[in-house]
Amino acid sequence: MKPRDRLRIAMQKSGRLTDPAQELLARCGLKFRQSRDKLFCFGEGEPVDLLLVRDDDIPGLIAEGVCDLGIVGRNVLREFQLTNPDTGAGMDELRPLGFGHCRLSIAVPQEDAYDGPAQLQGQRIATSYPGLLGEWLRSHGVDAKVVMLAGSVEIAPRLGTADAICDLVSSGATLVANQLREAVVVVESEAVLAGRRELPLDERGEIAELLLRRLDGVIQVRDSRLILMQAPRDALAAITRLLPGLPIPTLTPVDGAPDQVVLQALCAGSVSWRQLEDMKRAGARDMLVLPVEKMLA
Ligand code: ATP
Ligand code: MG
Repeated sequence: MKPRDRLRIAMQKSGRLTDPAQELLARCGLKFRQSRDKLFCFGEGEPVDLLLVRDDDIPGLIAEGVCDLGIVGRNVLREFQLTNPDTGAGMDELRPLGFGHCRLSIAVPQEDAYDGPAQLQGQRIATSYPGLLGEWLRSHGVDAKVVMLAGSVEIAPRLGTADAICDLVSSGATLVANQLREAVVVVESEAVLAGRRELPLDERGEIAELLLRRLDGVIQVRDSRLILMQAPRDALAAITRLLPGLPIPTLTPVDGAPDQVVLQALCAGSVSWRQLEDMKRAGARDMLVLPVEKMLA
């Protein structure tokens, strides 16, 4: 394979992860020009290109060195590692990305009660995730038959080809529509940045590190709010306890009102109306909650 001096990231061509992944990279300051066949995006500012593929192919492309990084569901990455232990061993989840949340769960027919793993003994369980399901069954001492299906797993019990299923769930609506109910979660998943455990030692490694630093900033900012308010000094302890993430606030005196301060704090997570109302009851007023655009520590 020819050595590359540009970093290449694999991402889903079209699916649930496509838009949020592209938005995340844009927030990291990356701009791309798409090729005519829409399979490749050439990076215009930084030396970072994108390869647009089916999500199932992403871990393999990283393992083979065709791409350096990938944005993929934890479910797909871990399944690849379990079913390809040799090539998968050198790969890692570098960052959780905070979107594409779902869970890989075992579901049983609605009329069956679920009272623990032993109930699955000897049953046929349909799934597209034989590696993850197999690992869960082994760790719970259950001997069940894994029925591999590439898609439409949820109809297997109605067709009589399986007794239970192990599939991705987010709202649970698909399960209800197929008269199934979620029994147990096998993996909590979200989109992750996947890569080889050791970054390349050349320029690509340096670009990857720059990208990771920007990504950390973007993720921190996305989950942060700046809150401003005026508060009586004697209510500061009570108000500070109500700030999400318990930040250490910055205090500024108010001219002509020695018992008052302006409080400024960077909160982890959003600030709800209820939390604002609680702070108002504690004595705060003129409260402002602002999104943060960029942050560099
Ligand atoms: P591709 O054509 O790329 O193979 P796909 O049909 O396998 O597409 P999507 O349905 O777009 O993939 O799902 C991509 C990822 O989104 C999943 O692997 C999972 O990590 C995540 N995801 C989040 N919520 C759900 C959900 N309700 N069902 C399935 N996947 C979900
Ligand atoms: Mg897929």
